[in-house]
Amino acid sequence: MKFRIFLILALLFSLEPAWAQKKSKHPKNIILMVGDGMGVAQIYAGLTANHGHLNLESFPVVGFHKNKASNSFVTDSAAGATAFSCGVKTYNGAIGVGPNGEALPTILEIAEGKGLSTGLVATCSITHATPASFISHQSSRSLDENIAMDFLKTDIDVFIGGGRKFFTNRSDGLNLVDSLKNRNYQIANSIAEVQQIKSGKLAAFLADEQQTRFSGGRGDELVKSTEVALNLLKNNKKGMFLMIEGSQIDWGGHANDTQYIVEEMIDFDNAIGKVLEFASKNKNTLVIITADHETGGFTINGGNTETGVVEGKFTTGSHTGVMIPVFAFGPGSENFAGIYENNDIFHKMMNAFRFK
Ligand code: MG
Ligand code: ZN
Repeated sequence: MKFRIFLILALLFSLEPAWAQKKSKHPKNIILMVGDGMGVAQIYAGLTANHGHLNLESFPVVGFHKNKASNSFVTDSAAGATAFSCGVKTYNGAIGVGPNGEALPTILEIAEGKGLSTGLVATCSITHATPASFISHQSSRSLDENIAMDFLKTDIDVFIGGGRKFFTNRSDGLNLVDSLKNRNYQIANSIAEVQQIKSGKLAAFLADEQQTRFSGGRGDELVKSTEVALNLLKNNKKGMFLMIEGSQIDWGGHANDTQYIVEEMIDFDNAIGKVLEFASKNKNTLVIITADHETGGFTINGGNTETGVVEGKFTTGSHTGVMIPVFAFGPGSENFAGIYENNDIFHKMMNAFRFK
């Protein structure tokens, strides 16, 4: 009899890890980080300049996405981000709308509707294509004032980026910062003000239009913004959806400027380090790092991990059509291995959240 009880207990204990593992495959938090224009060469340039290491190397799962747009072999950031945010391939320039201009619900809006906390952090105007595609529905990425207005149609908890003028200095004369205040947003106009916010909703404008590059005065604002956003969003029992963009890796590519790429890549990787720290403590957090597309046709013809020298070369001043790596960490990360379409990332995130 005693032996039988022992057997039953042994069986129960042997089952528990499998049960616990199965349960943990569905994260409460998803943090999607987009390095705009970040292909494999951009990553390796940052790694080389950083003397052979990046936080990205800690990610256990790596995949690739195919990123052509509905109307073009080479995607732009609007169609690329809309594929992630809405799960549909659309035309270049489209913000949260499908190929026929139809508004599509974004994963941020869906998460908000289900009671999760939501946030957007970027090192460019918060109305720029990548963050805009998670919260706005516009036929063109150039409609910054309309995109700013769409921020008031949601109940996003935290957004930190540039683009103040699209809220305050508008052709319709409206002051959307006043409207944000009326909706209980705390407004911050510098990184020091951002760091003072410890709870509640936050709308932060770190530039009138675009932030400067890392070495042009912006410094580690992305890392600090990431820390504040995580802190403001983490206390919701239902979880969070947070999108963080290293926006200017793309601009270094457009400028064919290796040093610009390297400093933006290392800055983005430092933000990744903060997110990894959070996800290691909060184990119900799935972290996904990817890019919308590669920029510059960038490659590395030589380098030195001891001196940090990178010999970069470019084939274009535009975007290219190569596959883009995806790195995943945390519960559900295994679903991001392999090769798939960019819009599958939306469906994988929806499945991870058990939203469908
Ligand atoms: Mg972008
Ligand atoms: Zn670009």
